[in-house]
Amino acid sequence: MKEIKAKTIISPFFGQSGDFKSYTYNPYRGCQHGCIYCDSRSLCYGIDDFEDISYKGNAIDLLKRELGRKTTKGIINTGSMSDPYMPAEEKLELTRRSLQVIADYRFGVQIITKSDLVTRDLGLLKRLSKTYCCIVFTLTTVDDPLARIVEPAAPLPSKRLQAMRTLFENGIDVGVAMMPILPFIQDNRENISSIVSAAAKAGAGFIYSSMGMTLRDRQREYYYSRLDESFPGLRERYERAFADSYSCRSLHSRILMNVLMNAAQDHGVSLRSFGELSRKPDFEDQIRLF
Ligand code: SF4
Repeated sequence: MKEIKAKTIISPFFGQSGDFKSYTYNPYRGCQHGCIYCDSRSLCYGIDDFEDISYKGNAIDLLKRELGRKTTKGIINTGSMSDPYMPAEEKLELTRRSLQVIADYRFGVQIITKSDLVTRDLGLLKRLSKTYCCIVFTLTTVDDPLARIVEPAAPLPSKRLQAMRTLFENGIDVGVAMMPILPFIQDNRENISSIVSAAAKAGAGFIYSSMGMTLRDRQREYYYSRLDESFPGLRERYERAFADSYSCRSLHSRILMNVLMNAAQDHGVSLRSFGELSRKPDFEDQIRLF
């Protein structure tokens, strides 16, 4: 793990609609969770030694400076390129200190994570909720042994669900990113309906999903090498079904979308698109506080 200096720390995020600005923020580079399907291994991101992570030692100073220059409030999104609650965070507390700054500057936050470590920051999350705070847990399966193979160093789904329940009981908005769904491994009815049912029990208000995955260049190579170890023969099925396609949708995606819609309806969970907010941010309240 090495320290690096970043030149800038937040960049525009165009995946949210509303009368406010959205930004992406990543204090880490690389990720320790080791998910075999991780898109961030792709060449276009230029992160060599993906699991040998770096952290941006000047992240907090840059965040203060860049948020201080903004004339309108917005939502900070984190967790798309690396998990903000990977094991290194326990000691470094970069995400925790970032949340403190985001709360001080009265911005909102949306976090995507696979880690129950997020509950450590419950007090800050409650404070951020006055403006906007939503925690999205990624669940590609609720089968712990399978998760141990496809997400080897991430906290188990059972831990994530417990954390989700804790946050929900403390008034924090929680939801689920059910993506990717790995073809020939996770693209079955039982998997989809058990994720929806477990998410609903844990308090998830929404789910967004993609019935498939993406594969390209060295990320594809990495994924196939892991398949050869854990699922012998599956690489050949992928090659036959998807050849060099970037988008690898499940061959059963339509059926699975119906399973998802029915299960979500049965359990009272809404379906959202990626980036869609769980509620309207309350920036006005913050302006009154000023
Ligand atoms: S937690 Fe997310 S960023 Fe980290 S390895 Fe897994 S998919 Fe990649």
